[in-house]
Formats: sequence, structure tokens, C-alpha cells
Amino acid sequence: MSEYWKQQALSQRDRFVGELLSFLSINSIEDMATAAEGKPFGEGVAQALEYLLARGESDGFRTKNVDGYAGVIEYGEGEEEIGLLVHVDVVTVGDDWTTPPFEPNIRGGRIYARGAIDDKGPALAAYYALKLVKDSRLPLSKKVRLIIGTDEESGWLCMKHFAEHDKVPEVGFSPDSSFPMTHAEKGQINPTLALSVQEQEVESAGYQLLSFVSGDQGNSVPEKAKAVVSAEQSLNAEWQREMTASWEAFLHAKATTGHVDISEAGEVTFRLHGKPAHGMIPQQGKNAGTLLAYFLLSLPFKASDYSFLSLLGQVLHEDYYGQNLHIACEDEVSGKLSVNAGILRYSRSDGGSVRLNIRYPATVAYEEYVEKLKRRVEELGWKISHLRTSKSHYVPKDRPVIQTLSRVYEEHTGLQANLLSSGGATYAKMMSEGVAFGPLFPGKESMAHLTDEYAEIDDLLRAMAIYADAISELAK
Ligand SMILES: [Zn+2]
Repeated sequence: MSEYWKQQALSQRDRFVGELLSFLSINSIEDMATAAEGKPFGEGVAQALEYLLARGESDGFRTKNVDGYAGVIEYGEGEEEIGLLVHVDVVTVGDDWTTPPFEPNIRGGRIYARGAIDDKGPALAAYYALKLVKDSRLPLSKKVRLIIGTDEESGWLCMKHFAEHDKVPEVGFSPDSSFPMTHAEKGQINPTLALSVQEQEVESAGYQLLSFVSGDQGNSVPEKAKAVVSAEQSLNAEWQREMTASWEAFLHAKATTGHVDISEAGEVTFRLHGKPAHGMIPQQGKNAGTLLAYFLLSLPFKASDYSFLSLLGQVLHEDYYGQNLHIACEDEVSGKLSVNAGILRYSRSDGGSVRLNIRYPATVAYEEYVEKLKRRVEELGWKISHLRTSKSHYVPKDRPVIQTLSRVYEEHTGLQANLLSSGGATYAKMMSEGVAFGPLFPGKESMAHLTDEYAEIDDLLRAMAIYADAISELAK
């Protein structure tokens, strides 16, 4: 049937591109300033949700708006259900776009706009796929539900609300990742570690760490770090020369940049630049905070100042896989546990705090690693002051949903359907037998969340054909 679906998808090209242009023109960045009843994430997100639901209604589907948190476009009957989970909210935009992010522009077969590939383009392609299935009049034995989320890029409150007021199917896919398909997603442990400063240390002489600030998001590698230090000799010219020289040598050795300033009162301020990266791939960044702490450990700090710096500069510095935290582990389907130190703070009044974003392998029982982490943190003189965890997701290879989608993918592309794993999460994990399926084809650059985000129109049509085939096979 793959030829049939390919032809059907191509026949939709003009109408699809036209609607995609309108859909992508809606600025659907979450905007709480315009939130209201029925629009919990603001005006733009609500409009994008309404746009899709209105398409569904005019094409003769049953539709439902679940309090503005989510929407459903539904086709077919049956006890069993197949879920297609998409989202219409998008991430923020910077200033460097070639053409405005909400004025979609077609250049060289690509459509440039925020949301083109994550996830409005794929969402519309999945909707069209459902419409092609409906138009084909093929007999189905299951109900197919396209579920539209509105808060995927932030807190997933949309799906939480939906799950409380409706039901997410057990089987299905989310077109919000890469082909062939992602069947394993790591889980997360997000602890905040706290260090208290003892009263009597506050007045201690010699070197003092007055403050330390780095990072503002748990799941990003900090790009900048700043520390303010006082030292008894800091007004001595010889000391200043030596300090500046060793700082410059350090920056050079670590291939990075920074500044040191010494105030008239003798306060020394260090600023260091690292390299940002997503928290799920900390090894691809350069953590400005742990690197600055690593440098400061060359100075004779004591007591809490030292405890703070040594956690950062000795334990967490380049500890991408958790060896120093005694939680390193890996599995075959999703690889190694990863650790990102995302928010690092210290002051002599509030003490130290460190927010970690730990991503653990999909098949590992995380409780055991939380225990190990707790023990290690206490051994280091810190404690866990706050802890948030999220489950991993794993669908074994032999499950029917994987068998069916693999077969469809192979028929359409002639490529082998090798299963993927991810450090990030998609809506697929809302379904016990859910996988992330496309829309990015192998070898294509992922532009999600980046400046000049685009989708290739031919690829969206190829994905549409695959989705139509997949829906008809899963629901037959
Ligand atoms: Zn997405």
C-alpha cells in the first residue's frame, strides 16, 4: 500500500502547504500574560489549538476542546484506541532569524518558521494522514484519536489535565522526534543539593568566597559563571600580578575566556565563559560554573567555602556520567546515565545550592540511584533539599506497535528500521506502548528550538504518507 499512500499525500500538497503557512503564522509561544479561562497558556497557543480543531470539524471529524489544555480529533469506532500525540506550542525565538519566525517563508523546498519541525508541521502532517485514512474508507476496527497538547515545551500540564479528564490511549505514536522510531527515553532525577554555612565561619579570615552564581536552568549547561572573592593580600601588587597571570594561564589551558577585576576595596571578581549545551548532553558543553570552581580550588579556601567549591570543582567538574557521584550506570537500549549541574549558587548568608539534572537509563530502577546519590551527597557534607523525578519510558522491540511501524517505515523508505533511544522525553511516554515516530529522516539536520527552524516540505509529505499507512495498519 505504500505507493497508494504516497500518491494520496502528494495530491494534498497545495492545500497542505497553504494551511501550513496559516498555522505557522500563529505565534503559539506560551504567554501567561494573556492566559484566561479556556486559554490556560495564553492567546496564541489557544488560537493554534482552535486552528487544528476547526480543520477537523470542517472535514467532518468528531472534535473536542478539553478546557483549552488539549484537543481531540477522532475517527472510527471500537473499544481499542490508537493515539497520535502532537503539540502546538512552540519555544521562544531569538533575534537572528533570516525571515521573521511567525511569517513562514518558503526557500529551496524548505518552509522556515518557528514550529515548522517542532511540532506544528508534523502535527498538521499527522492530521492530514488521519484525513487520508478517513477518505480512503478502508475498514478499521479501532478508534483513532489525534490528541493535541498545548504545553509540551514547558510543564506538560496539558497532558496531565487531559489524562485527568479523558483517557490517553495505550498504543500509538508521537511524531515529535526522528525516524525510524524512538522506543526508549531516559528518565530524570532532578535534585537540589544544599549546603549550610556555619555561623562561626562567616567571619573567618584569609580567603573568603563571598558569592558564586552560575546557570539559570537545570537542564542546560551554564554558559557563564561569576564568583566574588575577598583575600587579605588582594591589595598587594605582587599578589595581583601573580593571580592575574595564573588566571590567564588557566583560561588559555582550558581554551576559554574570562575576566578578573579587583575593586579598590580589594574584592576580586572572576567571570568565566563556558559553552552552553542541552542538559541531556552535558559532555558537549563546557560548564562555566564547575570550571570556575576548579580554578578557585587552587586558592586556600576553608570550611563551607571549600565544601562548596570542592563539590563543584572536584566532584561535578566533567563528571558527565556520574562516576564521582557514585551513580554511574548504563543499559543496552539507552546508554549511560548523564549528570548536568545546571544552577549553582553560593552566598555567605544563604549557603550553597546546586541543581542537578540527571538522566538515567530507560530500563534502570531509579529509586536505587536516588538512594546512592543521597548517601554520597551526605558523605560530602551536603543534603538533598528538593527532589523531582520523572519516569523513563521503554517499549520492548517485540511489541506489535514496533513491529507494525517498522514494517511500514521499511516499505516506504527501503531503509532498515533500527530502533533509537533518547535522553529527552516526548508524549510517547504517555502511552505504555507509545513510540516517537519521525518526522525527521535519517541524516537530516534537526532544527528544533534553533534559529531559522525549518522543515522540508517533501519530507513532511513523505511523513504524511508513512503516518497514513501506519494509522491504517495499527487500527485495522
Ligand atoms: Zn516537540
